[in-house]
Amino acid sequence: MTRKLFVTTALPYANAAFHIGHMMEYIQADTWVRLQRMLGHEVHFVCADDAHGAAIMIAAEKAGQTPQAFVAGIAAGRQQYLDGFHIAFDHWHSTDAPENHALAKSIYLALRQNGLIDVRMVEQFFDPQKGMFLPDRFIKGECPNCGAKDQYGDNCEVCGAVYAPTDLKNPVSALTGATPVLRSSEHFFFRLSDPRCVEFLENWTQDGRLQTEVANKVKEWFKRDRPAEEGGKAGLGDWDISRDAPYFGIEIPDAPGKYFYVWLDAPVGYLASLQAHLTKLGINFDAYMAQPDLEQVHFIGKDIVTFHTLFWPAMLKFSGRKVPDHIYVHGHLTVSGEKMSKSRGTGISPLRYLELGLNPEWLRYYIAAKLSARVEDLDFNPEDFVARVNSDLVGKTINIASRAAGFLSKRFGGKLSADLGVEGRVLLDGLRAHGEVVRTHLDERDFGKAMREVMLLADRVNEYVDQHKPWELAKKEGMDAALHDVCSVCIEAFRILIIYLKPVLPALAVQVENFLQVKPLMWADAQRALGHHTIGEYKHLMQRVDPTKLEALFEPPAAPVAPPPGGEALAEEIGITDFTKVDLRIAKIVNAEAVEGSTKLLRLTLDVGEGRHRNVFSGIAANYRPEELVGKLTVMVANLAPRKMKFGISEGMVLAASHADEKAHPGVFVLEPFPGAVPGLRVR
Ligand SMILES: [Zn+2]
Repeated sequence: MTRKLFVTTALPYANAAFHIGHMMEYIQADTWVRLQRMLGHEVHFVCADDAHGAAIMIAAEKAGQTPQAFVAGIAAGRQQYLDGFHIAFDHWHSTDAPENHALAKSIYLALRQNGLIDVRMVEQFFDPQKGMFLPDRFIKGECPNCGAKDQYGDNCEVCGAVYAPTDLKNPVSALTGATPVLRSSEHFFFRLSDPRCVEFLENWTQDGRLQTEVANKVKEWFKRDRPAEEGGKAGLGDWDISRDAPYFGIEIPDAPGKYFYVWLDAPVGYLASLQAHLTKLGINFDAYMAQPDLEQVHFIGKDIVTFHTLFWPAMLKFSGRKVPDHIYVHGHLTVSGEKMSKSRGTGISPLRYLELGLNPEWLRYYIAAKLSARVEDLDFNPEDFVARVNSDLVGKTINIASRAAGFLSKRFGGKLSADLGVEGRVLLDGLRAHGEVVRTHLDERDFGKAMREVMLLADRVNEYVDQHKPWELAKKEGMDAALHDVCSVCIEAFRILIIYLKPVLPALAVQVENFLQVKPLMWADAQRALGHHTIGEYKHLMQRVDPTKLEALFEPPAAPVAPPPGGEALAEEIGITDFTKVDLRIAKIVNAEAVEGSTKLLRLTLDVGEGRHRNVFSGIAANYRPEELVGKLTVMVANLAPRKMKFGISEGMVLAASHADEKAHPGVFVLEPFPGAVPGLRVR
């Protein structure tokens, strides 16, 4: 029976480029999807950028861009990663696309129609300077538990305590440094505590569609204590789904100035992306979703289980939509046993991996070899990576073809023998018989077990090769038929192994298909013999990992070496209040003259509109003759404390530009305002 599958990965937040953790999830899902396609099933595999929320709004503002332009910039960078690692999404969308606005609103209106939306007053921290309510992550203060300074509003990174931002001691806005004030505002809630939701979710989460460990975890949430304002009873809490303007998101119908919390419209993006994709194909979205045998599958990381096992299925159910059939949860990626962290330099950049010329399929294979169906963290260990790729993938598997192909093309014109000998047939039958085990492991996302199984099969083939020694047969008289059979068995065995590996190694499979001169390999092709068939010229299929290149992957990337502007780095950042301390005024140079005994200084007489003149010494004698300056306007620091110099008192300073290395880059350039300025005007 042909399965109909709608598959997604989690939507990445559009505030940064992909990290290696994203690639792991995409490789997992892509491998699974490729298997389903090889089995002849019908799959639509989509993803999108999660584009909304306060964090993106603030990041865009910092970058001097609109949020739309900011997320478009992030989106433009996605494809190189996906292509680079052979991740074949059918479509990539954005949660800010019109489909998502429409779908999110329609889901919300249906929930409201069903009596599942409440409006309540909520007290929250508000930044009076910025004029906005502050998300937890933008409030900092001292941990109420251990007193650690500079902690976020949701949890303490020092002692691990979890708390509300209002619990922080001495809270400040991370945006402006202002002390936030408590302010109340109307919020919209999805009533997850409604008995209808609870009953549905108790069934949906425990009916076997979730991994056991996930189902057990979720079970605990039904017994969690709820906050006092919701009655204090144990059970599911209601979910705050609104945020106040200014917010980058989807405006809530009939509620001006209120926006959907980003986590409401993010998963809706799965549907929006699918809809956009189906529309391109000329398929009706509603009709597609209405198919009773359609399976909806979401691959996600363990950090977003709540959203996908409570909020998302309940939103769908009570808006009259199809609910997910499977949520496949994976653990996180660690590097040499440590949680990834850019600051500690243990993050692996996927782009750097590609730039170094490391083969993307090595990573695909390595991740597959280590993935299980459980919610376990996966450790990237460089030595292990080299060992698995070099000895298992290249040494055991790829080498089978290289050992046989030369003899076949040189001695037999590339023609395979159809009579493979008893031992050869036994070997191949064994490989075929294990196809079902490999398929089951892959289908159940036990990729590690599947890869182990394939490597055991490769061991058998290598034993066969070692027993029959084609390189010795080739030297003996009258052994041509035996050599022909043995080499043909090797090629047939290699083809079967490549079929089993194809979901993991799609680009290698294409190379092999070209070499074998066969159509794109499907899963069922393993069960059919090639028979009388002529293969093409063998070309080298895969290199071994050079460990020094892998080491380079872990070196912190060199900072870009652009020379600092003007020969010096920018001074430390200052606030506007620091700047306004410096009083800059337009000054007229009433007189200028050389200073006797100094080759550097000119004595300037300046009018700043104060009804008196100022005396200022300026180090510009090498660049200006006094008569060039008289009558001109310039800018001076008017509130600089008077300084006693060798030649008299200097009452201020004239502004002039110069390079940090004046010897190498000579020149001092006095500033002159545009026409129209008059003495005394303040420069701000
Ligand atoms: Zn703490």
